[in-house]
This record gives sequence, C-alpha cells and structure tokens, in this order.
Amino acid sequence: MKIFASTLFLLIALQGFLVLGASAQVNLGQTDRWMKGALAAMERKDYQTANSIFRNLIDSGLPLPEEMPYYFSETLFQLGQYDNSQNFVNKYLELTGFTGQNYESATRLKEKLKVPLAQILECELCDRRGYRYESCMNCQGKKQLEQVCSYCKAKGVVGCSRCGASGMIKKVNMFNLIDFYECERCTGKGRLTCPNCSGSGKEVSSCKTCEGSGKTPSNTLCNHESPEHTLGLRK
Ligand SMILES: [Zn+2]
Ligand SMILES: [Zn+2]
Ligand SMILES: [Zn+2]
Ligand SMILES: [Zn+2]
Repeated sequence: MKIFASTLFLLIALQGFLVLGASAQVNLGQTDRWMKGALAAMERKDYQTANSIFRNLIDSGLPLPEEMPYYFSETLFQLGQYDNSQNFVNKYLELTGFTGQNYESATRLKEKLKVPLAQILECELCDRRGYRYESCMNCQGKKQLEQVCSYCKAKGVVGCSRCGASGMIKKVNMFNLIDFYECERCTGKGRLTCPNCSGSGKEVSSCKTCEGSGKTPSNTLCNHESPEHTLGLRK
C-alpha cells in the first residue's frame, strides 16, 4: 500500500514543482549535485542509487530540472517499475514536448515499455503496476467475511413491529373498550426470525480489504510465472 501512496505523491509533487520552474533559484547547487550524482549512478548502472537520489530530489521540494522526469523514468524502467516509468515518461513528454533534450530517448523508452506493460496486462498474477498478488490477509483469500448479523446483532430474531414485540394487538371495540388479539404476524410470540440472516445470526459480506477479489498486491515485482509451475518442477 505504501508504494501506491508514494507513487501518487511523486506525481503530484512533480506537477507542483515543475510549475515553480526555474523561477526559484535558491538551492540550485544542491539540485545540481543530486542530478550529477543520479546521472553518474545511472552511468555505472547503479539504478537503486539513482532511484533514491531522484526520490530525495522530489522529497526536498526543490524545483526539478526539466530533464529529470525522463532520467527518472529510465531508472524506473531498469528497476522493473514499468507502470511508474510510463507515468513519468508521459509526464516528461507532456511537459517538454518536442523541445526536450531527451525527446527521442523518451519516445524510444515509451516504445520499449510496450512489451513489459502488455505482459503485465496479460498476467493474472499481478496488478496493473506489475506487483505480485498475494492471498488477502483479511479474508484468507475467501473473498467474503462472515460476521455477526448487523440487523439482529447475532440474536437470530427480531422484535415483531406489528405488535411492538408484545405478541398482542389492541383493538377498540364498539363499546369503546379495548380488546386484545394475538398478533397474526408473529403468532403471539412477539418475535420474528431475522429477515437479514434467516435466523443464523451471521451475515456474509464481501471483504473490504481486497474488495471481494481475495487478493491484494504485495511489494514484490511479478515474474509472470505461476508458483504451481515452479513447485511442479521441484518435485
Ligand atoms: Zn440477523
Ligand atoms: Zn407480532
Ligand atoms: Zn479479502
Ligand atoms: Zn505478473
């Protein structure tokens, strides 16, 4: 869950800071140092380091260099975070258009992303970001949860509304006296079987954690291979 939150945050941050643009000249020295560090890390194929430098840069709140989203998307591609990579390369192209220094590389990256993104789309073992699903912890993959009936609070019965749970109906007769009759609806019991749970005291509802799918994404990038397949080979 943390991943999604930070992805969204990064995109929002990116949008905000690029609007600030070069007008804020403060601390450009620090931004330059970070950019150089990240590009050097990319050069030696240390994409993990590049990734954390880029994230520091975004977290710092300093205005981002125009070319940064491109380099960040390239880094994310190398780390297998294809969906995120696509978000940033799109943002880069949207913001810089044809004028960006890395316009051609960005277009190539978009092209390169097509294959892994199509694999993610085809795979049923991962979410659309490419993160492997695991069985939902809340419902143990059952998709539904059994809980206490919310209507009768597990009693299985509810008070009869027609007779006010008394079992008797009062009627004023022609002599203006009150007669009592047994309630037809509850046959004088004053109670009815709970219409919500049919008396079981329990109700089944769709699991909210996994929205009834039985699975939640993990922090692991998917290799698009089924675990059964791997187990089968081991036997
Ligand atoms: Zn009930
Ligand atoms: Zn009744
Ligand atoms: Zn669930
Ligand atoms: Zn997959």
